[in-house]
Amino acid sequence: MKRLFIAFSLWFCITLLGGYLTVSYVVQSGDNLYNIAKKFRISPSTILDWNNLANPLKLKAGQQIVVPQPEGYLYVVKQGDSLYSIARAFFTSVSDILIANDLNSELIKPGQKLFIPQKIVGKAFNTEKGYIWPVYGVLSSPYGSRVHPITRQMSFHSGIDIAAPEGTPVFSSTSGVVVFAGEKSGYGLMVEVKSNNSIVRYGHLSKITVYEGQGVERGTLIGRVGNTGISTGPHLHFEVIVNSKTVNPLALLPSSNKVYVLKDGVEAAGGE
Ligand SMILES: [Zn+2]
Repeated sequence: MKRLFIAFSLWFCITLLGGYLTVSYVVQSGDNLYNIAKKFRISPSTILDWNNLANPLKLKAGQQIVVPQPEGYLYVVKQGDSLYSIARAFFTSVSDILIANDLNSELIKPGQKLFIPQKIVGKAFNTEKGYIWPVYGVLSSPYGSRVHPITRQMSFHSGIDIAAPEGTPVFSSTSGVVVFAGEKSGYGLMVEVKSNNSIVRYGHLSKITVYEGQGVERGTLIGRVGNTGISTGPHLHFEVIVNSKTVNPLALLPSSNKVYVLKDGVEAAGGE
């Protein structure tokens, strides 16, 4: 038993924080992101969100990785945030965040760190259609012909734009397999998820939390909102391709005034 404990403590270093632990894991030879995630019973996306890995498909023995236990995300409060706005970004409820962080009041201040356990994330996803809203934000540009915000010329917009603060979590709208994760010209940091009948593109991300070949569920964290590529401010470009042609994503998503729906009847629109 003692020997087991020593072996265990060699590759773990545990730090106890309010409501959660971070485990510092040292990559062993033969490890990959998938088996490390499996070892800790979490999604590879959670590991990618907590770590800045240069190449998630090529881990080096001896490299250190931070793993949260239980599974969840860290959110640093920004000026202008409220617990309600944070709850909406993670599609959860204010009361769940209060409980998870042992808070007695809704007063929060910039710089404060909140832990958002995975088990409370997505409670307010509107699942009435096959696709869910990937991000809580404001619809800032529709699909179809429009005046391009940078060139000022009429051009075709192949998706919809959803404006949200930088760092807002982006969730996979469908289940499927990641077929692209990286930089792609005007799209900046982009993820492509292929499902049975479509390819969904998520553009202008500030961070990507999936790797090519990863299987994702509806609601898996695929990245964070950013302003990469050709973009005028932090937003998500959300594009759906069916039979090699783009379609209007609004036809596939729940109505835009029901982005966030809690089972107990609380509903909120996409804009403020
Ligand atoms: Zn766009």
